[in-house]
Amino acid sequence: MYVPEPISKLIDGFMRLPGIGPKTAQRLAFFVLGMEEDDVLDLAKALVRAKRDLSTCSVCANITDQDPCHICVDKRRDRSIICVVQDPRDLMAMERTREYNGLYHVLHGAISPMEGVGPDDLKIPDLLRRLGDETVKELILATNPNIEGEATAMYLSKLVKPFGIQVTRIAHGMPVGGDIEFIDEVTLTKALEGRRELS
Ligand SMILES: [Zn+2]
Repeated sequence: MYVPEPISKLIDGFMRLPGIGPKTAQRLAFFVLGMEEDDVLDLAKALVRAKRDLSTCSVCANITDQDPCHICVDKRRDRSIICVVQDPRDLMAMERTREYNGLYHVLHGAISPMEGVGPDDLKIPDLLRRLGDETVKELILATNPNIEGEATAMYLSKLVKPFGIQVTRIAHGMPVGGDIEFIDEVTLTKALEGRRELS
Protein backbone atom coordinates (compact mmCIF):
# COMPACT_ATOMS: atom_id res chain seq x y z
CA MET A 1 0.00 0.00 0.00
CA TYR A 2 1.35 3.39 -0.98
CA VAL A 3 1.11 6.08 1.68
CA PRO A 4 2.58 9.54 0.93
CA GLU A 5 5.62 10.06 3.12
CA PRO A 6 4.32 13.10 5.05
CA ILE A 7 1.34 11.01 6.18
CA SER A 8 3.37 7.95 7.11
CA LYS A 9 5.74 10.21 9.08
CA LEU A 10 2.81 11.73 10.94
CA ILE A 11 1.39 8.27 11.70
CA ASP A 12 4.81 7.12 12.95
CA GLY A 13 5.00 10.22 15.15
CA PHE A 14 1.65 9.54 16.78
CA MET A 15 2.54 5.88 17.29
CA ARG A 16 5.45 6.90 19.51
CA LEU A 17 2.97 8.31 22.03
CA PRO A 18 1.80 6.04 24.85
CA GLY A 19 -1.43 4.14 24.34
CA ILE A 20 -1.64 4.90 20.62
CA GLY A 21 -1.71 1.97 18.21
CA PRO A 22 -1.57 2.00 14.39
CA LYS A 23 -5.31 2.52 13.91
CA THR A 24 -5.59 5.44 16.32
CA ALA A 25 -2.39 6.94 14.86
CA GLN A 26 -3.90 6.77 11.39
CA ARG A 27 -7.15 8.32 12.58
CA LEU A 28 -5.28 11.19 14.28
CA ALA A 29 -3.08 11.75 11.22
CA PHE A 30 -6.08 12.10 8.93
CA PHE A 31 -7.82 14.28 11.48
CA VAL A 32 -4.83 16.64 11.39
CA LEU A 33 -5.02 16.75 7.59
CA GLY A 34 -8.59 17.95 7.92
CA MET A 35 -7.74 20.71 10.41
CA GLU A 36 -7.37 24.41 9.54
CA GLU A 37 -3.74 25.27 8.86
CA ASP A 38 -3.66 27.83 11.70
CA ASP A 39 -4.85 25.22 14.18
CA VAL A 40 -2.20 22.78 13.00
CA LEU A 41 0.45 25.47 13.41
CA ASP A 42 -0.79 26.24 16.94
CA LEU A 43 -0.57 22.55 17.83
CA ALA A 44 2.91 22.20 16.37
CA LYS A 45 4.10 25.32 18.21
CA ALA A 46 2.62 24.07 21.48
CA LEU A 47 4.53 20.79 21.11
CA VAL A 48 7.83 22.51 20.39
CA ARG A 49 7.36 25.17 23.11
CA ALA A 50 6.49 22.58 25.75
CA LYS A 51 9.75 20.84 25.02
CA ARG A 52 11.97 23.88 24.50
CA ASP A 53 10.73 26.30 27.16
CA LEU A 54 10.26 23.95 30.09
CA SER A 55 12.89 22.91 32.57
CA THR A 56 12.95 21.70 36.17
CA CYS A 57 12.77 24.17 39.05
CA SER A 58 16.15 24.42 40.80
CA VAL A 59 14.36 24.46 44.18
CA CYS A 60 11.53 21.91 44.01
CA ALA A 61 12.33 20.08 40.74
CA ASN A 62 8.84 20.69 39.36
CA ILE A 63 8.45 21.22 35.60
CA THR A 64 8.45 24.97 35.02
CA ASP A 65 8.82 27.75 32.48
CA GLN A 66 10.57 29.98 35.00
CA ASP A 67 13.17 29.31 37.67
CA PRO A 68 12.33 29.16 40.54
CA CYS A 69 8.84 28.00 39.59
CA HIS A 70 5.57 29.88 40.19
CA ILE A 71 4.81 27.84 43.32
CA CYS A 72 8.24 28.33 44.91
CA VAL A 73 8.09 32.12 44.51
CA ASP A 74 4.42 32.48 45.54
CA LYS A 75 4.37 34.55 48.75
CA ARG A 76 0.88 33.29 49.67
CA ARG A 77 2.17 29.73 50.00
CA ASP A 78 2.82 28.25 53.43
CA ARG A 79 6.60 27.81 53.44
CA SER A 80 6.57 25.67 56.59
CA ILE A 81 5.19 22.60 54.77
CA ILE A 82 6.76 20.63 51.94
CA CYS A 83 4.79 17.90 50.20
CA VAL A 84 7.01 15.27 48.59
CA VAL A 85 5.67 13.67 45.41
CA GLN A 86 7.17 11.26 42.91
CA ASP A 87 6.20 12.98 39.74
CA PRO A 88 5.16 16.41 38.38
CA ARG A 89 1.80 14.83 37.47
CA ASP A 90 1.25 13.97 41.15
CA LEU A 91 1.92 17.60 42.01
CA MET A 92 -0.74 18.62 39.49
CA ALA A 93 -3.17 16.17 41.11
CA MET A 94 -2.47 17.74 44.53
CA GLU A 95 -3.01 21.21 43.08
CA ARG A 96 -6.35 20.18 41.62
CA THR A 97 -7.65 19.46 45.13
CA ARG A 98 -7.20 23.20 45.95
CA GLU A 99 -6.78 22.08 49.58
CA TYR A 100 -3.02 22.22 49.81
CA ASN A 101 -1.23 25.53 50.17
CA GLY A 102 2.31 24.52 51.04
CA LEU A 103 5.36 23.92 48.89
CA TYR A 104 6.40 20.78 47.01
CA HIS A 105 9.39 18.65 46.27
CA VAL A 106 9.36 16.40 43.22
CA LEU A 107 11.56 13.30 43.51
CA HIS A 108 11.27 12.24 39.86
CA GLY A 109 10.73 8.60 40.71
CA ALA A 110 10.70 6.22 43.64
CA ILE A 111 13.23 3.85 45.15
CA SER A 112 12.99 0.57 43.26
CA PRO A 113 15.69 -2.09 43.66
CA MET A 114 13.93 -4.11 40.94
CA GLU A 115 14.46 -1.33 38.43
CA GLY A 116 17.83 -0.32 39.80
CA VAL A 117 16.61 3.05 41.11
CA GLY A 118 18.39 4.03 44.33
CA PRO A 119 18.13 7.15 46.52
CA ASP A 120 20.97 8.80 44.59
CA ASP A 121 18.94 8.65 41.38
CA LEU A 122 16.22 10.82 42.93
CA LYS A 123 16.11 14.49 43.94
CA ILE A 124 16.77 13.59 47.58
CA PRO A 125 19.99 15.60 48.19
CA ASP A 126 18.13 18.72 47.00
CA LEU A 127 15.37 17.97 49.50
CA LEU A 128 17.83 17.64 52.39
CA ARG A 129 19.38 20.95 51.44
CA ARG A 130 15.95 22.58 51.68
CA LEU A 131 15.31 21.05 55.10
CA GLY A 132 18.46 22.67 56.47
CA ASP A 133 16.48 25.89 56.26
CA GLU A 134 14.65 26.30 59.57
CA THR A 135 11.35 27.49 58.10
CA VAL A 136 10.26 23.91 57.25
CA LYS A 137 8.17 22.37 60.05
CA GLU A 138 6.38 19.51 58.29
CA LEU A 139 7.22 17.13 55.49
CA ILE A 140 4.23 15.36 53.92
CA LEU A 141 5.21 12.16 52.13
CA ALA A 142 2.76 11.80 49.24
CA THR A 143 4.52 9.05 47.33
CA ASN A 144 2.33 6.44 45.67
CA PRO A 145 0.58 3.78 47.79
CA ASN A 146 2.53 0.89 46.26
CA ILE A 147 5.72 -0.99 47.20
CA GLU A 148 8.12 1.55 45.69
CA GLY A 149 6.20 4.52 47.09
CA GLU A 150 6.05 3.03 50.59
CA ALA A 151 9.75 2.09 50.50
CA THR A 152 10.60 5.64 49.48
CA ALA A 153 8.44 7.09 52.27
CA MET A 154 10.11 4.84 54.87
CA TYR A 155 13.56 5.74 53.59
CA LEU A 156 12.83 9.46 53.69
CA SER A 157 11.27 9.39 57.15
CA LYS A 158 14.42 7.78 58.59
CA LEU A 159 16.67 10.13 56.69
CA VAL A 160 14.81 13.24 57.82
CA LYS A 161 14.51 12.27 61.49
CA PRO A 162 17.72 14.07 62.59
CA PHE A 163 16.29 17.35 61.27
CA GLY A 164 13.58 17.30 63.97
CA ILE A 165 10.87 17.99 61.42
CA GLN A 166 7.40 16.47 61.67
CA VAL A 167 7.10 13.78 58.99
CA THR A 168 3.63 12.71 57.91
CA ARG A 169 2.30 10.22 55.39
CA ILE A 170 -0.92 10.80 53.49
CA ALA A 171 -3.64 8.50 54.81
CA HIS A 172 -4.55 5.06 53.66
CA GLY A 173 -7.92 4.70 52.05
CA MET A 174 -6.28 5.45 48.78
CA PRO A 175 -6.47 2.47 46.43
CA VAL A 176 -3.45 0.27 47.19
CA GLY A 177 -1.15 -0.01 44.21
CA GLY A 178 -2.81 3.08 42.81
CA ASP A 179 -1.18 6.15 41.43
CA ILE A 180 -1.74 9.55 43.04
CA GLU A 181 -1.96 11.08 39.60
CA PHE A 182 -5.18 9.20 38.88
CA ILE A 183 -6.88 9.50 42.28
CA ASP A 184 -9.97 11.73 42.30
CA GLU A 185 -9.81 15.05 44.14
CA VAL A 186 -12.18 14.06 46.97
CA THR A 187 -10.21 10.92 47.86
CA LEU A 188 -6.92 12.76 47.62
CA THR A 189 -8.19 15.61 49.80
CA LYS A 190 -9.31 13.07 52.43
CA ALA A 191 -5.95 11.31 52.23
CA LEU A 192 -4.24 14.65 52.79
CA GLU A 193 -6.48 15.65 55.70
CA GLY A 194 -6.07 12.22 57.31
CA ARG A 195 -2.29 12.24 57.13
CA ARG A 196 -0.60 10.83 60.19
CA GLU A 197 2.82 11.16 61.73
CA LEU A 198 5.34 8.46 60.91
CA SER A 199 7.17 7.05 63.90
ZN1 LIG B 1 9.75 25.17 42.42
